[in-house]
Amino acid sequence: MTDTLDIKITKTTHSRLQETDFTNLVFGRTFADHMLVADYEDGEWKNFEILPYGEIALSPAISALHYGQAFFEGMKAYKHADGQVSVFRPDKNAARFNKSAERLCMAELPEDLFVQSIAALVDIDRDWIPAQAGHSLYIRPFMFATDPYLGVTPSKTYKFMVLTGPVGPYFTKPLRVKFETNYTRAAEGGFGYAKAAGNYGGSMLPFKKAAEEGFDQLIWTDAKEHLYVEEMGAANVMFMLDGKLVTPSTRDTILDGVTRDTVLALARSWGVPVEERRVSIAEVVEGAKSGKLTDAFGAGTAATIAPVGSLNHEGEEYTLSDPSTREFSQKVLKTLDDIRYGKATDTFGWNY
Ligand code: PMP
Repeated sequence: MTDTLDIKITKTTHSRLQETDFTNLVFGRTFADHMLVADYEDGEWKNFEILPYGEIALSPAISALHYGQAFFEGMKAYKHADGQVSVFRPDKNAARFNKSAERLCMAELPEDLFVQSIAALVDIDRDWIPAQAGHSLYIRPFMFATDPYLGVTPSKTYKFMVLTGPVGPYFTKPLRVKFETNYTRAAEGGFGYAKAAGNYGGSMLPFKKAAEEGFDQLIWTDAKEHLYVEEMGAANVMFMLDGKLVTPSTRDTILDGVTRDTVLALARSWGVPVEERRVSIAEVVEGAKSGKLTDAFGAGTAATIAPVGSLNHEGEEYTLSDPSTREFSQKVLKTLDDIRYGKATDTFGWNY
């Protein structure tokens, strides 16, 4: 990949940095000073531009609004003690960006243009990256269809945009979680493996109902029988069962998470047995009863490693061990933080 990216840059004349409260960050509410925009027209990506964050004008007929030709990515940049800045595994997000594009019949973006766009934007707003523990700059690349045409066909034009914003820890306590056996996030043959906007719109009602029942998160199960575990909220789910790290194998209903891949790589490097396979609710519940389930957590960019405090299945509640005593997830979290904040050698080459 040799394309070099020509980006037109217009810097803000009024930075909002000084007026931003970094002690009270709510995920997704605070945006850095700049954003990136590019257009897909006549079969190519053009007009890459970094400009002050703000509103954009769009036709109300764009097909993204009507038919959901829209998808996104989520990744983070970290500030090291020596002031260096790194983005975690952007190549993985670039590849997944194009998997989403392909599934939604949208334009693919060469991976190097994706990575260069993000690097340029993060560089301009590097003062927005909080240095406190557990904090980072969340990066939100996304693409949407812009043909002002109500025909149900793939758009010929698209916009690629990137927003960024400082974030703190997403979950601050162990989660009370239930197995969702009524609603479905993704079905076989569908597009659960893509970060399609519609996947998230459809998850809001089940989340709202679970929250009303007092749960922090839900574990999605298979669409056919609701017997097998798929994901936890907007994160992958992992269990330490009988000394083995067990997680649902990726398939078309499951997002192939960067954090999931990272945790599996760490576990394998430590000699921890790993099983990627179908995981039944029954065996997880059985493990919770017998004590063989020694760890359970969600793994995702926003969530990082989010410990499950208790599991609920059909009204039965199973309380798991105190997360601070869990050997595996504590070690993963520390190792990940050490790599991402530049405190440990990046032996896997994950920091860009
Ligand atoms: N599953 C879903 C449905 C998600 O939205 C996410 C967040 N991107 C994940 C899993 C975790 O993926 P990653 O580790 O790449 O953030």
